[in-house]
Amino acid sequence: MTTAVESVRAWVEDAKRIVFLTGAGISTESGIPDFRGPQGVWTRDPEAEKLSDIRYYVADAEIRRKSWRTRLAHPAWTAEPNEGHAAIAELERRGKLHALITQNVDGLHQRAGSLPERVIEVHGTVHGVVCLSCGWKGPMQATLDRVRAGELDPPCRDCGGILKSDTVSFGQPLAPEVIDRAMRAAAEADLFISVGTSLRVYPIAGVVQVAKNAGARIVIVNAEPTPFDAVADAVISSPIGETLPRILGELRECSDCFDGGHR
Ligand SMILES: [Zn+2]
Repeated sequence: MTTAVESVRAWVEDAKRIVFLTGAGISTESGIPDFRGPQGVWTRDPEAEKLSDIRYYVADAEIRRKSWRTRLAHPAWTAEPNEGHAAIAELERRGKLHALITQNVDGLHQRAGSLPERVIEVHGTVHGVVCLSCGWKGPMQATLDRVRAGELDPPCRDCGGILKSDTVSFGQPLAPEVIDRAMRAAAEADLFISVGTSLRVYPIAGVVQVAKNAGARIVIVNAEPTPFDAVADAVISSPIGETLPRILGELRECSDCFDGGHR
């Protein structure tokens, strides 16, 4: 495993256009439960899956009221980014990050310092609210204030329509322009690093093959095997918060070398 880490470190130093794909695994290390893992939200409460299904959400006001109660206590409001998020943000400050594609909706990359315009949120964000009728969008916390003030299922103030977190639920299409952006970014990568995702959900898992076809080196960091391990140049299964600082860590620099003939 040491060899893989050292190889990836060298590739990171060489790379100019690194693209990441991150999934639930990087956020579980910040205490945000995933859905299907052993401690997953749906594993513990199969009924909770209905809250993430647009058909139930639209049809059943009780599901919506339960959803708003759940959102009041969403772990994203209090979770802190971890060393993995921080290492990616640091890489961006060094000018090596081309794009950061994430399946996560918790906003932890932005909290860690990643530029919002460089984060491609393919499943949307829990920090936003959208009207399912007129498309109005607004910040989540303002709508949660309405819930706390007693509106158990707050309607859109423009059209009276149903409001929902600005995330992609089951039964909802992914935004084609967001997927296009992710695919284009993957095709421009010289190093593609997939972190904390099982790579089993399409179309987004397809970005790995797109990057591979474009000639990028592929690195997979995930606790469990993925269907793309065989095409990867390196596979690392140790914890993300430990691994990313080691493979992305600050380059050794000696400023004296550039201005004083220092050896
Ligand atoms: Zn509306």
